[in-house]
Amino acid sequence: MCHRVFEHNQFRGCGHKQRIRTGRTDCYRLDCIFSALHPQNCVNPACAQSMAPDEETVTYVTFAKCPACREAEAAGSS
Ligand SMILES: [Zn+2]
Ligand SMILES: [Zn+2]
Ligand SMILES: [Zn+2]
Repeated sequence: MCHRVFEHNQFRGCGHKQRIRTGRTDCYRLDCIFSALHPQNCVNPACAQSMAPDEETVTYVTFAKCPACREAEAAGSS
């Protein structure tokens, strides 16, 4: 089944993740209403009506802190 994919940068310095991209994978099944190949006029109730669980992937790992934490740190030290 189709599902959404969230790509993240992971900041080991603070443990936070920053979402950089939201994508979607297509299963290309004829019996999944989210698929590009699913016929638009299809009313078959047996077709998959819900997406598979979201998938989270980490694209990039850094040992720095995330921008929000760096900003908070800079604001706190002044
Ligand atoms: Zn699908
Ligand atoms: Zn269908
Ligand atoms: Zn952070």
